[in-house]
Amino acid sequence: MRGLSQITDNAIIVMLGASGDLAKKLLYPALFTLFRRDLLPKQIHIVGYARSKIDHDDFITQVSSDLKDPGDDPSFSEQLEKFKTILSYVSGSYDDGSAFDELNRYLEKIESNYSTPEHNRVFYLALPSNVFVQIAKHLKKRVYSNRGANRLVLEKPLGSDLESAQELVKGVSQFWPEEQTFRIDHYLGKEIVKNILALRFANSFTSGFWDNNHISNVQITLNESFGTEGRGGYFDSAGIIRDVIQNHLCQMLSILTMERPTSLTPKETINEKLGVKLLRAIRPVQREDVLLGQYEGYLDDSGGVPFILKAGKALDENRVEIRVQFKDNPEGLYDDDEQLCRSELIMRLKPGEAILIKLNIKSPGFDTGVIPAELKLDYKEAFPDVFIPEAYEVLLRDVLRGDHSTFVRDDELIAAWKIFTPILHWAEGKDGNKKPSPIKYAFGSRGPEGLDKFLAKFGSKD
Ligand code: NDP
Repeated sequence: MRGLSQITDNAIIVMLGASGDLAKKLLYPALFTLFRRDLLPKQIHIVGYARSKIDHDDFITQVSSDLKDPGDDPSFSEQLEKFKTILSYVSGSYDDGSAFDELNRYLEKIESNYSTPEHNRVFYLALPSNVFVQIAKHLKKRVYSNRGANRLVLEKPLGSDLESAQELVKGVSQFWPEEQTFRIDHYLGKEIVKNILALRFANSFTSGFWDNNHISNVQITLNESFGTEGRGGYFDSAGIIRDVIQNHLCQMLSILTMERPTSLTPKETINEKLGVKLLRAIRPVQREDVLLGQYEGYLDDSGGVPFILKAGKALDENRVEIRVQFKDNPEGLYDDDEQLCRSELIMRLKPGEAILIKLNIKSPGFDTGVIPAELKLDYKEAFPDVFIPEAYEVLLRDVLRGDHSTFVRDDELIAAWKIFTPILHWAEGKDGNKKPSPIKYAFGSRGPEGLDKFLAKFGSKD
């Protein structure tokens, strides 16, 4: 894949699905933050597009209601008024070619006021994926800029199993080359996830110990204390594997296990990353690797390091973290000490971004035994004045910069679905066997009974 150039001027971002929740709650706020920080191209317009008929003023009111004043920017109101002037909305269908012709004419009218003939267009599909292929076709045939860069951004979920993901990739690729396609997994834009490579490859104490001689197991956890909250219908058909495991947790697994890239350029990182090689080497999840409650686990090849992917709703905590548990010290000098703990490296995304190292120290004072202690780098405390962007701010900026390293490549998406599709079909009773019953657990509890025993099977120790 050739590198793309950065879009610095004369751009229009077309937000398809602009009437929806994602656009209003996350995408327009992210664009506004980039606008306030002067990180958008110089001449820029953002055109919302969806079927709903919404007049201009109502649309601006809708969008503005989610642009919250952080209270640390005296020019906020002034910036908001300026931002409103670059927003507009066009109503049209997703399957009618003439509606896209009209959209194209609308964009050309805006561009006629741009100062140079280069016109760049970014199309963000904040929509259910069943309309992606038809929209991709109309955009390519009717709204594509012949005078500049074109980029197509596809929001997740990207398919619901291997077959549908393959259809989606093939359908879109008939019209859009991979180089111009950006598939979202917003976890790739999160600060702590972006930090994994630096932690691994900028420190000899981690790179030197990153193997099965030293690591007992790795746990990647995404626990939510809330339930499906009105999204029960969606969740019934999606389930936790599709919702967060096949995408977010699998992406973190890839970065944790990828080989060292030869350089940090997006191309090298993607090639090594998000370790398509690695994902391809993982055998599909087997039934014995799974505890089905609201929790799923997955085990790498025997002999390797077990990776345990845990995710659930309605649990007793909101916690997203990667926990690398090191093996017990073979020297064993303190083995009899009851307080001896497992050494761990923890990368915490929630609550509060932090890097922690759990280790044993001599009990302070006259005592010669050991006690567990924690070294903690809390991002808020350590970097109080640094602006740490939200994931969608990172990703939208990367689309404009032409940096694919925070997006999901076609072969990577397929490799991830290959791992999880057999177990999804089993969980849904689509593999010819009786649909298994998940182990029930109480709202707000630690999860299904047997969880600790299941984790211990893979070497996990508290
Ligand atoms: P919405 O259901 O609000 O859909 C967005 C817009 O798409 C709607 O306003 C509607 O616009 C149009 N739409 C809805 N259903 C259909 C359909 N069946 N066929 C064609 N158009 C449809 O979704 P969200 O905005 O919440 O999310 C958009 C996508 O992003 C979804 O796939 C979602 O799963 C995903 N997502 C959402 C997140 C969120 O926090 N909301 C987070 C991460 C991903 P109109 O009728 O005006 O055309």
